[in-house]
Amino acid sequence: MSEPLLRIEDLSVSFAGDQGVVHALSQVTLDIQRGRIIGIVGESGSGKSTLALALLRLLPGNLLDCSGRILLEGTDLLKLSQAQMRGVRGRRISMIFQDPMSSLNPVFTVETHLIDAQRASRPDLSTSEMRQRALEMLAKVGIPDPPAGLRAYPHQLSGGMRQRTMIAMALLTEPAILIADEATTALDVTIEAQIVALIRALRSDYAGTILFISHSLGLVAELCDEVVVMYAGTVVESGPSAAVFAKPQHPYTRALLECELDLQDGADRFVSIPGEVPSLIDPPGGCIFAPRCRSRFDRCLTAPPLIERESGHRAACWLP
Ligand code: ATP
Ligand code: MG
Repeated sequence: MSEPLLRIEDLSVSFAGDQGVVHALSQVTLDIQRGRIIGIVGESGSGKSTLALALLRLLPGNLLDCSGRILLEGTDLLKLSQAQMRGVRGRRISMIFQDPMSSLNPVFTVETHLIDAQRASRPDLSTSEMRQRALEMLAKVGIPDPPAGLRAYPHQLSGGMRQRTMIAMALLTEPAILIADEATTALDVTIEAQIVALIRALRSDYAGTILFISHSLGLVAELCDEVVVMYAGTVVESGPSAAVFAKPQHPYTRALLECELDLQDGADRFVSIPGEVPSLIDPPGGCIFAPRCRSRFDRCLTAPPLIERESGHRAACWLP
């Protein structure tokens, strides 16, 4: 297989927490190929956002340590200077956040946002060319009246329209990787479905890789070519969506799928996996899922590596 677009090797991230050192990511290793839509799933606190922020080197101020390698087309992002990283952020890697208002400046119109987004990545274009691209992009992301959309201020847009504007802004920079971190979670289900349909429709125009971070296995199954399942700061399973959803290899993935099926069956109570997510301050040794696992056995006292089960389908589990 050709060199992956992004290769993450042994990425560990820790923070200084009030109660001690928080090991938010532990030795995450992952290859991400060009032009794929990758779903990243896992319970709250599993490290999904930390992984996304690490790729952008935007980890919060109480970061203690970020080690390993993040190779974007062979260049280790962890070795770049801050100035070099500014050439990566919003150009090679762009991110759409859950709350678009946090990334849109209320005093500027959509036009200003969309033109500014292009200035760094497309210095070859004139302002009127950038304006024209912005209009075309607004039409592509489904803004009904693009000229009016350009004149609008962020607060004049509905949540769904803001999210579309954010997607337009990110795509105008033609990033190699577009990260959507729970980008649809704040929207109601109808709008969420529309945004997911939009991301799928954009595939014909946008050749980059999309990292789609979500709580919803259903959305990931629908949208993504591949899925990465995270648990307590580690990758427990990864592979083609079809294979992972049809034949999950890790007990945690199976448990997540069962919860989702219960929800679909109309369970009125909050369905969750029995047991608690382990503390990331003093994580237990051995397999990190073992304390909650119904199938654990003595071998689980040693942490299993990610083992390839079938082509491209890996699971960190000792079970055959
Ligand atoms: P969610 O689904 O709720 O968004 P997530 O999978 O994105 O969760 P992260 O936000 O990456 O999870 O957090 C991973 C772990 O790291 C959590 O236990 C969280 O409490 C901890 N963490 C994240 N940021 C910090 C920080 N700045 N200081 C201390 N701990 C942190
Ligand atoms: Mg998160």
